[in-house]
Amino acid sequence: MKVLVTGGAGYIGSHVVRQLAEAGHDIVVFDNLSTGYRWAVTAGELVIGDLANEAEIDQVFSSHRFDAVLHFAANIVVPESVTNPLKYYGNNTRNTLNLLKAVDKYKVPYMVFSSTAAVYGMPEQTVLTEDLPLAPINPYGASKMMSERMVTDLAAASGLNYVVLRYFNVAGANPDGLLGQATPEATHLIKVACECVTGQRGMSIFGTDYDTSDGTCVRDYIHVEDLASAHVMALDYMANGGESKVMNCGYGRGFTVSEVIDVVRRQSGVDFPVTKVGRRAGDPAALMADNALIKKTLGWQPAYDDLETIVGTALAWEAIWQKKKAA
Ligand code: UDP
Repeated sequence: MKVLVTGGAGYIGSHVVRQLAEAGHDIVVFDNLSTGYRWAVTAGELVIGDLANEAEIDQVFSSHRFDAVLHFAANIVVPESVTNPLKYYGNNTRNTLNLLKAVDKYKVPYMVFSSTAAVYGMPEQTVLTEDLPLAPINPYGASKMMSERMVTDLAAASGLNYVVLRYFNVAGANPDGLLGQATPEATHLIKVACECVTGQRGMSIFGTDYDTSDGTCVRDYIHVEDLASAHVMALDYMANGGESKVMNCGYGRGFTVSEVIDVVRRQSGVDFPVTKVGRRAGDPAALMADNALIKKTLGWQPAYDDLETIVGTALAWEAIWQKKKAA
């Protein structure tokens, strides 16, 4: 297929691009390089453009005939979305609208949209099914919920088929050391802990009084290569006539914050200090994906469902990235 990958120079998009190329797809990456990198685009053509600019979007759609659009481009930092909500409603929601206008105009048949478990907000359950009510508690989650809705509404009114994937906690890196998370000012736990190992920063545990095994929050950490393979499988699924679906993407099991930090310390051999502070607003005690639907629908089977592997690849990448940055 000829595929457009927005945000293909970013962390998750770049891993997907590599797998799409391996599967034989013909790729155009559209990215403004605000948090992505040219080196991360290991296949296809890179078009530097901004989804805020409808003329730039039209230009890329009129120069190619896309069979599918995979839409990764977005801002993803929850605390920033609280202090600067309009950035999120602009870059995530409005820019998805801009993209959908072109998807509709050029009658692109398939779309894969990157959503998030943040659309569920603070659910009562700890294992989440896709049919739960959507109740995001921050602008990031709301911006993604609205984007999902636009995708599904357009599909209902047109020939568009979609797969929406709600990601849980994505971490780890390409095992060959080619790619990994290079996002500046990352806030996600495993990335932050890896930066502590190399002495770039310190860190805190947000809350030690949750109703969990050790008092710290439980999350469902999924390796980025397994998330990437779900996207490639989603394209095959739609091409084979599969109907549009919204699916969680996680392993269905979790680890506490303290467990994750212990693994990073043990594997790295660096006993970096951690400060215990109060709860971060909006953190539910435990969140895990019910992944029965994606396993059944796509036949998706994780290959890296192991915290040691997730942390090991993240640490290896962090060392490579520090050298790359210094060079
Ligand atoms: N967390 C933490 N310290 C950090 C970053 C994260 O204690 O520096 C905790 C956070 O409170 C949550 C878990 O780690 O319980 C995962 O947070 P992250 O921001 O990685 O992902 P989220 O689950 O919020 O999407």
